[in-house]
Amino acid sequence: MRIVIKLGTSTLTHATGKLNIRRVELLCKVMSDLKNAGHELVLVSSGAIAMGVGKLNLTKKPSDIPTKQALAAVGQCELMYIYDKLFSDYHHTVAQILLTGSDVEDPQRRENFHNTMSRLLELGALPVINENDTVATAEIAVGDNDTLGAIVAVNVQADLLVLMSDIEGLYTADPRKDPSAGLIREIRELTPEVLALAGDAGSALGTGGMVTKLRAAGMCMAAGCDMIITNGQRPEDLYAIAEGQQVGTRFFAKKEA
Ligand code: GLU
Repeated sequence: MRIVIKLGTSTLTHATGKLNIRRVELLCKVMSDLKNAGHELVLVSSGAIAMGVGKLNLTKKPSDIPTKQALAAVGQCELMYIYDKLFSDYHHTVAQILLTGSDVEDPQRRENFHNTMSRLLELGALPVINENDTVATAEIAVGDNDTLGAIVAVNVQADLLVLMSDIEGLYTADPRKDPSAGLIREIRELTPEVLALAGDAGSALGTGGMVTKLRAAGMCMAAGCDMIITNGQRPEDLYAIAEGQQVGTRFFAKKEA
């Protein structure tokens, strides 16, 4: 299977912005093992800005754009250093790709991206993708990594996009507010009722919420790719996902008529 795995900031870092070492070590180990088992993986990783916050010992995520961009520049280095180090332990080679919205909107650049990705996968490398936050201001940004994950999954014709975040999946109501909320296991169509479930969940350091996740689902489903939303707290769930077991909420690709 060709699987794109998107790791959200809340999965990779503690609330301090510092790396969640235990979690990230386990994630890299499981992903290495899945590659060893023959799956093709692509990683879309958030966390650059949060890691910049941690690395520069700031107390919270700043709100002004130049500081966020400066922190992304610091944090992206740290992020790739960690991935390079951990995946090297299992003899896997990472490749950094930074994109903006204007890269994937331009047909020529989109094709260049596609060609590079195909070659990297043929070479057995593990592409690690993030938005190029140091240059991407609102006008040209994809804006969030759920959407970026879907763009990548569609571009590489992945079988599956897995969004790992701090929530188990899509609920019938916001589980942070309503204890009776139930987890929805399968979605086959993004009806207005489903879209209305999005609410505005999000964490203090990350960017996305359920709205961006459902947008990503729509892009994947239309392009023939399944998508799963699951909690990144349990990296070993990736084994179950690769075996086709039920984890989190699964959005099924539209079948050809
Ligand atoms: N590109 C941002 C970062 O690396 C994250 C965007 C997102 O989480 O959606 O910090």
